[in-house]
Amino acid sequence: LNQALEQRVQERTAALKESNEQMEAFVYSVSHDLRGPLRTIKGFTEILRDQYASDLDSSAQDYVNRIMKSAKYMDSLTQDLLGYSRLSRAEFNLENLETGICLDAVVLQLSEEIEQKKAKLKIKKPLSSVLAHSTPLEQIFTNLISNALKFSKPNERPALRIWAKEKNGHVGLFFEDKGIGIAPEHHERIFRIFERLHSPNEYPGTGIGLALVKKAAERMNGSVGVESELDRGSKFWVELPRANN
Ligand code: ADP
Repeated sequence: LNQALEQRVQERTAALKESNEQMEAFVYSVSHDLRGPLRTIKGFTEILRDQYASDLDSSAQDYVNRIMKSAKYMDSLTQDLLGYSRLSRAEFNLENLETGICLDAVVLQLSEEIEQKKAKLKIKKPLSSVLAHSTPLEQIFTNLISNALKFSKPNERPALRIWAKEKNGHVGLFFEDKGIGIAPEHHERIFRIFERLHSPNEYPGTGIGLALVKKAAERMNGSVGVESELDRGSKFWVELPRANN
């Protein structure tokens, strides 16, 4: 009986894996194929806005602007979805990486936004080395830092502290902000794809960032989580295996 059960579990797991892979391939091809028509919509809307503005009354101009805004949102959505499904399919080469170097590269990429928002960023170095793949590691940092910059309290400068702590062969990386915070009942669901706690008008975004962070960490044998309360800032953590000696 045990053997039969074991066999059935293996068959179900294989079937589930296959349907998951099919689903991911489907998401990839839909988001990829949507980009062509979307480019056309954006292109012609731009022509209407830039070359025909004088022929359009104010209502028509408003419609054109709205089409543009929606097309831009759809563009981010398809791009983020592509990034997410690429992450599921990519081969990872896990190697010893210095977290500090990856983080510096990400901070440099985000420097314009950091300066524009006058964000206070404190990185406690040295940060430990981890066993990871550089692209998904940088994607994790980019998403967590961008969120800290985005979800700051209105009229306050974003503030973010980053540090690392080693424990039992793992490295915990912590990202603590002083932003709007997250009520405990939402801590789990924000890591699921498309789960957002605000409308895109309040805070722009697609709801894919944290799902990508979770998937990237899990694919590198790590985990993620958050400690937070509403109005009291958030502390996101990512745990990854420590680099080999
Ligand atoms: P997006 O940033 O596109 O909304 P994410 O998946 O990155 O999507 O985040 C999901 C939701 O989690 C956000 O919409 C927001 O409600 C919440 N969230 C993420 N990071 C923070 C943060 N640092 N502070 C407060 N809320 C956050």
